[in-house]
Amino acid sequence: MIQLDKHYEPEEVEKRWGKFWQEKNYFHADETLDKPTFTIVIPPPNITGRLHIGHAFNNTLQDILTRWKRMQGFNALWQPGTDHAGIATQNVVERQLHAEGTDRQALGRDAFVERVWKWRDESGGTITEQLKKLGSSLDWQRDRFTMDEGLSRAVREVFVTLYEDGLIYKGDYIINWCPRCQTALSDLEVEYQDAQGHLYHLKYAFKDGDGFLVIATTRPETMLGDTAVAVNPKDERYMKFKGKTLILPIVNREIPLIEDGYVDTSFGTGALKVTPAHDPNDFELGRRHNLPSVNVMAPNGTMNAEAGQTYEGLDRFECRKKLVQDLKNAGVLLKIEDLNHSVGHCYRCKTVVEPYLSKQWFVKAKPLAEPAMEAVRNGSIKIVPKFWENTYFEWMENIRDWCISRQIWWGHQIPAWTCKACSEIQVVRETPEKCSACSSTDLEQETDVLDTWFSSALWPFSTLGWPEKTETLKKFYPTTVLCTGFDILFFWVARMIMMGIKFMDDVPFRHVYIHALIRDAEGQKMSKTKGNVIDPLEVMEQYGTDALRFTLAAFAAQGRDIKLDEDRIDGYRNFCNKLWNASRFVLMNLEGYEGTCQLDEQADRSIADQWILSRLNNTTREVNQALEDFKFNDAALTVYKFIWNEYCDWYIEFSKSRLAVEGPGKKAAQNVLLHVLEASLKLLHPFMPFITEEIWQKLPKNGDSIMISAFPEFRADRSDAKVEEAMGKVMEVITGVRNIRGEMNLNPGLKLNALIKTGHADLEATLKKHAGFIRELARVDQITIGPDIVKTEVSASSVLGGMDLIIPLEGMMDFAEEKNRIEKELKKIAKDLIFLDKKLSNPNFVKKAPAEVIEKDEKRKTTLSEKQAKLETHLQTIEQAIR
Ligand SMILES: [Zn+2]
Ligand SMILES: [Zn+2]
Repeated sequence: MIQLDKHYEPEEVEKRWGKFWQEKNYFHADETLDKPTFTIVIPPPNITGRLHIGHAFNNTLQDILTRWKRMQGFNALWQPGTDHAGIATQNVVERQLHAEGTDRQALGRDAFVERVWKWRDESGGTITEQLKKLGSSLDWQRDRFTMDEGLSRAVREVFVTLYEDGLIYKGDYIINWCPRCQTALSDLEVEYQDAQGHLYHLKYAFKDGDGFLVIATTRPETMLGDTAVAVNPKDERYMKFKGKTLILPIVNREIPLIEDGYVDTSFGTGALKVTPAHDPNDFELGRRHNLPSVNVMAPNGTMNAEAGQTYEGLDRFECRKKLVQDLKNAGVLLKIEDLNHSVGHCYRCKTVVEPYLSKQWFVKAKPLAEPAMEAVRNGSIKIVPKFWENTYFEWMENIRDWCISRQIWWGHQIPAWTCKACSEIQVVRETPEKCSACSSTDLEQETDVLDTWFSSALWPFSTLGWPEKTETLKKFYPTTVLCTGFDILFFWVARMIMMGIKFMDDVPFRHVYIHALIRDAEGQKMSKTKGNVIDPLEVMEQYGTDALRFTLAAFAAQGRDIKLDEDRIDGYRNFCNKLWNASRFVLMNLEGYEGTCQLDEQADRSIADQWILSRLNNTTREVNQALEDFKFNDAALTVYKFIWNEYCDWYIEFSKSRLAVEGPGKKAAQNVLLHVLEASLKLLHPFMPFITEEIWQKLPKNGDSIMISAFPEFRADRSDAKVEEAMGKVMEVITGVRNIRGEMNLNPGLKLNALIKTGHADLEATLKKHAGFIRELARVDQITIGPDIVKTEVSASSVLGGMDLIIPLEGMMDFAEEKNRIEKELKKIAKDLIFLDKKLSNPNFVKKAPAEVIEKDEKRKTTLSEKQAKLETHLQTIEQAIR
């Protein structure tokens, strides 16, 4: 029989099997197979990405589902791919150019885009390699990229169709503008942070010289673009000024006083300056009242000619400083108040975002959102955990048109051409040669590219071949599950649902599983500056990939946050070692065994054999159910407990005496040991693919790889509640004896006698029948069981379920020495308790110490008190013996 090495070496094993699986093409899903399908599309990582703990988590869960379903006989496709990540990638290459002393403008558009492609070809595959290292069983043959030819065609098709259906339009709109990246940002790409700012109170005089109004603003430089002042028509304070004209200070422009119900009478003075070109609400106000828009800023955040000669060319914040001084000098600035308010920042470069008026392309969102909401309402798509559905509906009900144009170069250039001769705009699938109106060939393509999320919104069908009607598309769409974090529920998930329904007439996926976000052990967000980042690549190197994967699964409770404790990874590495050692034991005890892992139905099975088979069967049911419900942590811990506690700690021990004697008992034990080991490896395989393959390959198994073997199935006839109960009692007694042995500090090799008092005839019969296990595993010589047991004078005892366990101690130990030991220990505990009490009753300490420190001390106090009580009981027993 083949044996296992003494130690498990993950690095070598992982490389070997990773290569083997790929060479055998096991990750490939064949669209011609007539099997039920199971499909997941990967949330495409950015080509700029490096595997972080969030990726490792997200992809481990997807791989668990895919491997599990593949083993269950599904035609399982896990679709890989990467995202071109417009702004992020452009920024990386721009930084490189900057370091070389040049920039994209100097290079020109075509050369720049070429440069980005070159970067992508050389460096964009990093994350793909890291995903392979994680063991991800993605169908690499089908690898896609959001800018590859097919996907680009899908993007054009969708854009043109939406345009033809009146769902894409170009318009003046106030958008979020990053003056650094010089591009529009969608509402979702703006990060709001609280900042200390100021509220400036300014005096706007009436043209007729009769008095003034006071308005308040946090961005005084925008006043240069004011085109009105608005008050609420119900505001009594301003009734008398109706229809008057004001003079804009510094600029000296005449602006009207208008009335609009939108104005909040309780904010500031109730008079609002209106700057349609620089505030989204003012923009709407301006539209309602036909106000002109005066744009006073250039795209790079400096003031333009409209701001006036004094300010032209100044950066917006410099301008603010100078203007405030000028307003003060002119006697217009009444006061400056401190104000804590929230300020939008670019999610890429953290520059303060400017609301900005510009020409942009938009997707009309409402008509697409309606069916997308209905799909979740009627259960066509199930969001797990369900509480995220509310968040989804809330957002979808308030959805605004989606600004899809970006003023960068890296991305899908918008397929719109303007005729320079007659200004006709053509939005078409194929690049036009001439104007459709005047036949001029002088056409210019729109310079903007599409928001990165535009192409990823098509991901579930574009990766499967759409707009071609491929076999793959027919077979694998709609996909089964989408597995993602809640941070991209709207960026991505909602938009995939909208686009899927619009273009495929069916939802893109049946389930959306939303996993929690990973935080550190204290619940803090991981960040480089805090230094609390757990790097999955380092962890994989140090503990092995299986240990990392298992830890992530074990932590995957359904909720919002996960507190990841690095110590647990070490714990699950020990689990690998435990499994390895148990497997070694089994393999070393297979001498003379000629069967396979298949269960021998004719074997002479003991109750221990029946028990482990029943437990295996129930474990199988629980694991399958938990995975069905996306309860990854329950599934992982169920397998863990079965392998560690039941198989290794109990069953292997039970089997030892039978293995020692040649005969049918030995054969049965070997067969059950093997069968349960193989089934355990299969149950564990989706979580720990590498070590399970390594061990499985050494077993007398059928098949070429565990990853394409059949996943265990529950069989009603294999569970036996009576056997489980009986063995439960036997184990309870064994544990009881072991505990007393430990607490009384008795020599582990010493044979004890045991008395078991019980009034239950069934229990008595069960224990008598299986007393052999107790003698062997608890090192007991004589066992007396019955209802009339009398406790011997010098003994230790323990109350178990339905029975009392009594261990006579006479002649088993040196009582004087033991008394001494216990007294010493009690003294030490008393001292520790006094110290802890003092600490915890000190109000200064309690006030200042972090909650977890106090909690730890409280816990220690409880532990010590419990130990103290136990030792005192033992001491009494010992003292009785001496007397
Ligand atoms: Zn930016
Ligand atoms: Zn034309």
